[in-house]
Amino acid sequence: MATALERSGVEELDRLKHRVATLEQLFEVYERTAIEQANKLEQLLEERKRAERELQKHKLHLEELVAARTAELRRANEQLKIDIAAREQAEQELALKAQELARSNADLEKFAYVASHDLQEPLRMVASYTQLLARRYKGKLDADADDFIGFAVDGANRMQQLIQDLLSYSRLTTRGKALELTETRRACDIAVKNLRRAIEESGAKVAVDDLPVVLGDVTQLSQLFQNLIGNGIKYCSDREPEVRVAAKTNGPEWIFSVRDNGIGIEPQYFERIFQMFQRLHTRKDYPGTGMGLAICRKIVERHGGSIWVESQPGHGSTFWFTIPRAERTQP
Ligand code: ADP
Repeated sequence: MATALERSGVEELDRLKHRVATLEQLFEVYERTAIEQANKLEQLLEERKRAERELQKHKLHLEELVAARTAELRRANEQLKIDIAAREQAEQELALKAQELARSNADLEKFAYVASHDLQEPLRMVASYTQLLARRYKGKLDADADDFIGFAVDGANRMQQLIQDLLSYSRLTTRGKALELTETRRACDIAVKNLRRAIEESGAKVAVDDLPVVLGDVTQLSQLFQNLIGNGIKYCSDREPEVRVAAKTNGPEWIFSVRDNGIGIEPQYFERIFQMFQRLHTRKDYPGTGMGLAICRKIVERHGGSIWVESQPGHGSTFWFTIPRAERTQP
């Protein structure tokens, strides 16, 4: 018969066994969980390493790209610097050339003025003495002498005309008045009045439409109209000359036109006729020095505009010129 002590010892032993079994179970669970966790951790670590490797690869590629792009940009920058330096040098050279040109133009104008002004006096002497020779000795020497004296008189007169035109050309800048509000109609009327004789002799009809007020020099503007209308009358065909002066607005400027029904001009001469001493006809056909349109161009340019011609041989010519609108140019 087991004693109470033995019984309680057995019971205690059972409890202990049960506890050990429970602990073993628990341990098993813990162990499994720990292994699972360790596996997951290992997996995560592996993934992380892979990601890091991937990242490293991308970083390297990116660094290569950045280095290549930086080198490219540096090269482009260097090229740009070279281009800018070349451009600056070209601009400086251009500015220098423009300065030289302006100076040489001014010198040339001064020279033209001084030469034509100083030549006038001796030329006047040559002209008056050849005229005196002609008056006093015409018919008293032989026929050749009459011819020679005639040529000399003619040459001296022509030279005087040329020099006078050259002088008026250079005076356009040296004696030009300050531009002020000017009725172009008044300038045109002065021109028509000055041309009265040519108009009467040729039977020309000169019509003048409404003309605007511009910032201008009335003397020069009337000279401009006089040269253009005068040419319209002079270069006429068989018909009676008809000249029409008009103006219309075109944005910031006025466009003036002087249209005639004369002989017209071949297109290849449209530019040339505005150069000094350029003529398309002999003096026998039409008198002149070839300075009229050069003077016109200088006047128009001094007023801030431009001048050109449209024409068809046999169908008349239209000379166009622009002048900025007064309200736009006033300060
Ligand atoms: P000029 O009349 O003294 O010869 P211009 O400079 O006024 O000088 O004219 C230059 C040339 O342009 C003239 O010789 C003429 O051949 C031509 N020309 C000018 N105006 C006209 C016109 N209205 N019709 C035809 N030809 C013209």
